[in-house]
Amino acid sequence: MDPRTERQLVVFDFDWSLADQDSDRWIFEVLAPDLRRKMKNLKDEVQWTDLVAQSLQEYHARGGTREEIEGALKIMPFHPAMKRAVLKAKEQANPKTTFLCLSNANEVFISTILKERGLETLFDEVITNPAEWDPSGLLKLRRRVDPAGPQHGCRVGCSPNMCKGEELDAFLARHQPAFDRVVYIGDGSNDFCPILRLRSEDAVLCRTYRGLQKRIEKDGAGAGLKCQVHYWSGAWEVEELFSKL
Ligand SMILES: [Mg+2]
Ligand SMILES: [Zn+2]
Repeated sequence: MDPRTERQLVVFDFDWSLADQDSDRWIFEVLAPDLRRKMKNLKDEVQWTDLVAQSLQEYHARGGTREEIEGALKIMPFHPAMKRAVLKAKEQANPKTTFLCLSNANEVFISTILKERGLETLFDEVITNPAEWDPSGLLKLRRRVDPAGPQHGCRVGCSPNMCKGEELDAFLARHQPAFDRVVYIGDGSNDFCPILRLRSEDAVLCRTYRGLQKRIEKDGAGAGLKCQVHYWSGAWEVEELFSKL
């Protein structure tokens, strides 16, 4: 470990990064595959967060319960090596690591899964779409950026519900002085915008064969990507990278 790295920020995307599945899709694959199919058919027409919200409403309308959704979340794949890696980094005094979750999932999915995995105190902050259970057991999900209000100005390709790059910049502005190093773990094309904000001393741990790798290879140089890039496919490799970085 570089002795000059005293304050470190670790940023985790959630689906397919910290967790070993995609929560939005997983619950419907487990509970209502016909709704999963409908989502797949509609995903180019309906904004994704809105589509998940609609699907949750449809599932509720046919009698689907909160308990069933929580049950599906609790059995969602989560790699033991990822849990080991983050807990080890968290307990180390040097560098002192701050953990940020930056996700297009939602508050309820993330908190339910973190609690089930004994990681409810891992993150210093979770930035995601707001969600809450209403008394009837409907999970009410909204975009982080309200469609009725001012929209974010991202030109890199973030979904209308949230620009992860703008959110990361705002987080860094709230946590001055600058971190000695930022490590970003992600897999999706929407993780490309935030990693453009990273410096040469920072690193992205990019999961292979998914949208982020494709964007890095296609647009990274042209967009001025400065951070170090490390690839991984299984969580055990993130554990390995954490111990080497
Ligand atoms: Mg992801
Ligand atoms: Zn963006």
